[in-house]
Amino acid sequence: MSDAVYDEFHAAVREIGMLGSIEQLLEWDSETYMPPGGLAARAEQMSLLSALAHDRKTSPRLGEWLDRLESADGDAVRQTNVREMRRVYERSRRLPTDLVRRITKASVIAKEAWTRARAASDFSAFAPNLCELLDLKRQAADCIGFDDEPYDALLDEYEPGMTTRQAARVFAELRGPLSEFVGRIAAAPRKPDASIVHRHFPRQAQEAFARRVAAAIGFDFKRGRLDVSTHPFCSGAHPGDIRLTTRYSEDFLSPAIFGVLHEAGHGLYEQGQLFRHALTPAGMAVSLGVHESQSRLWENFVGRSRPFWEGLYEAARAAFPDALGGVALDEFYGAINAVSPTAIRVEADEVTYNLHIILRFELEREMMSGRLAVNDVPDAWNAKMKDLLGIVPDNDAQGCLQDIHWALGALGYFPTYALGNLMAAQFFAAAKKSIGDLDERLRRGEFTVLLDWLRENIHVHGQRYRAEELVRRVTGQPLGTTAFLDYVRRKFGPIYGL
Ligand code: ZN
Repeated sequence: MSDAVYDEFHAAVREIGMLGSIEQLLEWDSETYMPPGGLAARAEQMSLLSALAHDRKTSPRLGEWLDRLESADGDAVRQTNVREMRRVYERSRRLPTDLVRRITKASVIAKEAWTRARAASDFSAFAPNLCELLDLKRQAADCIGFDDEPYDALLDEYEPGMTTRQAARVFAELRGPLSEFVGRIAAAPRKPDASIVHRHFPRQAQEAFARRVAAAIGFDFKRGRLDVSTHPFCSGAHPGDIRLTTRYSEDFLSPAIFGVLHEAGHGLYEQGQLFRHALTPAGMAVSLGVHESQSRLWENFVGRSRPFWEGLYEAARAAFPDALGGVALDEFYGAINAVSPTAIRVEADEVTYNLHIILRFELEREMMSGRLAVNDVPDAWNAKMKDLLGIVPDNDAQGCLQDIHWALGALGYFPTYALGNLMAAQFFAAAKKSIGDLDERLRRGEFTVLLDWLRENIHVHGQRYRAEELVRRVTGQPLGTTAFLDYVRRKFGPIYGL
């Protein structure tokens, strides 16, 4: 009896997943190949799809299936699908359709206002929109419910199960030591020459090299693509069809090479989901934080490591003979690992990056609780930049107006970037421990051993474990900062002669 119920439930859940995957494909298309004339039609297509998905996520049938299946036995896959669909069902039902519509409308208008405010570098032109969005998000948090503070409900959307207090604890632990280390680097006696990666790198050669690197680490081009978009991303419609994008600039090598390694890291996670569970929670990524741990692991822990380039550097020199022909491996390694506090988050190196996130997390939390008035955001932003990174942005465009997230109403999203970095450090340390000669394998270009480890320990589980539990199971430790701080000190100390 419960088998038949589960089969019906499972078919319905797959269809919800399929609606989401069609949405992803359309989104990918609108960022890559859609002609401008398709914009209005695409908006209609997307809103129809999300309405259909919303109807199904909130349907009383789904509620009945969940009630019946929760009291029945089931294996781990069933339990995962039932538990995670309960979460989706509750969140979707608690949010009134009217409120969702108001948030969507307010963010469309806010995005326009933000674009103009940023161009004029005038935060006050965006402040009323941010006030409105905060108010709507507080209402949403009240509907969804939370234990300690409204921010919990927002964070939970992107990082299921994580509380504000947990995130605040790890960030508080990270803040001081990291900021102190950045200060020591700024005063270091030795500095790598970062200009090497700003020489002329022909676009075609970059594209060929980026593809080669993505394929080398295991990204399967028979189940994926690499295209160009303004803002790079990875779209995971199905483990059999993963779309990566990047951008190329001929006077800067890093965005394409490390951008592709980053997106391919996301892509490997998606390709590593089991086909038989595709489109259901048992075959989907755990959270944005865990997703980011996979991209950062390949981009930084592997892609910016010395062993990785010991194996690949001759090929890089052959691909870019004019720019790198006379550059020694150590100089190149220094250039791709230069640390320099910058006002702009997306340009930040792997040491300073988390400080940008801590700043945003602290401000969002204070805004949501009403402790920080929106009009005081620019001053608070600049004071925190000074405190954390020792610099002050030139203007609002370079400061509190730089990111689109708030305009999209995506409050609670930022912490996942830093959580991902911390998880990546823990996962990588665990992989190293388990694969004794990992450095040597990376040097020889044998990436499969690491990918297999990630597949077995992380990818194949889909959403079976929430992030915190996954970290504990894989690393034997709770989510923390030790692995990350050890890693940056051990890596960047020698580069900067500390
Ligand atoms: Zn990412």
